[in-house]
Amino acid sequence: MMPVPPRIAIIGAGLSGLSAATTLAADRHSVQVFDKARGPGGRLASRHDSEGAIDLGAPCFTARSDAFKDRVAQWLKAGVIAPWPVSPWTRRADGQLTAYSAEHPRYAATPRMSALTRHLAGGLDITLSTRITSIERIADEYWLTCEGLERYGPFGHVVLALPAPQAQALLPDEETGLLSQCNSVTLAPSWHAHYRLDAPLDVPWDALFFENGTLYWASRQESKPGRESAPTLRLIATPEWSQQHLELAPEDVACRLKAAFIDMNMMPRPAFRTADAHRWRFAQATHSLSRTSPLWNARHTLALCGDWCAGNNVEAAWLAGQRCASELITYLTSSS
Ligand SMILES: Cc1cc2nc3c(=O)[nH]c(=O)nc-3n(C[C@H](O)[C@H](O)[C@H](O)COP(=O)(O)OP(=O)(O)OC[C@H]3O[C@@H](n4cnc5c(N)ncnc54)[C@H](O)[C@@H]3O)c2cc1C
Repeated sequence: MMPVPPRIAIIGAGLSGLSAATTLAADRHSVQVFDKARGPGGRLASRHDSEGAIDLGAPCFTARSDAFKDRVAQWLKAGVIAPWPVSPWTRRADGQLTAYSAEHPRYAATPRMSALTRHLAGGLDITLSTRITSIERIADEYWLTCEGLERYGPFGHVVLALPAPQAQALLPDEETGLLSQCNSVTLAPSWHAHYRLDAPLDVPWDALFFENGTLYWASRQESKPGRESAPTLRLIATPEWSQQHLELAPEDVACRLKAAFIDMNMMPRPAFRTADAHRWRFAQATHSLSRTSPLWNARHTLALCGDWCAGNNVEAAWLAGQRCASELITYLTSSS
């Protein structure tokens, strides 16, 4: 009788988990993906209300490596993403606004950022609204337990496609090597707020970076490709401000970021209509591992993969998932 190929569990349906899962599934491996959220996407999440979609995480991304440029070309062809011909400006510390030309083109998924991860998730076996709380190794196989105490398994391999601190919390105690690698990574938090406006802002910029103060950047959501939403201003606070105000209520954050924007006196007061805010406890790595390959345990049964392995952005997340999948495929082929 032919041996049954080991099943693979991927915890995390953000871009890195989906990147690994799609490649493994295309190679006909049996993959089950888990995510605690109601939909796939992770830090590419979007929210929908009666006035359209609002991106809550990464507003856009760039492609620098040849491998990611090739993938971006495929997504462009499939109509899942589109170039965002953004006019970026900077507000200097002296208050001057200056335009600059971006070195790399920016892309956004259409009609919202989560459309990319929804596209990748199609056809995969994904178990949503399921927070994994522990991983146990019993007789050479892994079993996952979720918040509701339900157990999933057995799996031959588990990939933790999560921010390092969340992966660390799930690692079995004996994985000392992986645990210490997680310790060396830091991810900064980020508060973001969005505001529906009665009228579009009369400004030359689509996105504005701030050199000092509370805000890191502002953007006009409706300038992104495929958006049919009401005029919407999105503000992202600096990692430092976000860290200092981590436990504030979202309404309070929305008020304070709005005040910081108005206080700069860059334009007549915008006609704010609604306000909301979202906190990312682990938004972007301030110290990543700069690795080209994912982290494996000695038995090659447990892997850590996420943007923080190689950087802190969408491209790093995608590449981490690709490398994780190709190394696992090579391992499984050579050991079968
Ligand atoms: C505000 C903000 C702005 C950004 N701006 C940019 C930008 O301009 N350009 C750029 O390229 N990148 C940007 N990024 C970074 C980019 O979004 C990330 O690098 C990328 O999306 C990370 O993907 P990932 O799969 O590694 O992790 P994640 O997207 O975090 O995926 C991890 C997944 O694991 C799930 N999960 C966590 N714990 C558990 C558990 N116990 N059980 C089950 N599921 C679990 C989460 O729900 C999540 O879906 C930004 C991010 C933020 C937050």
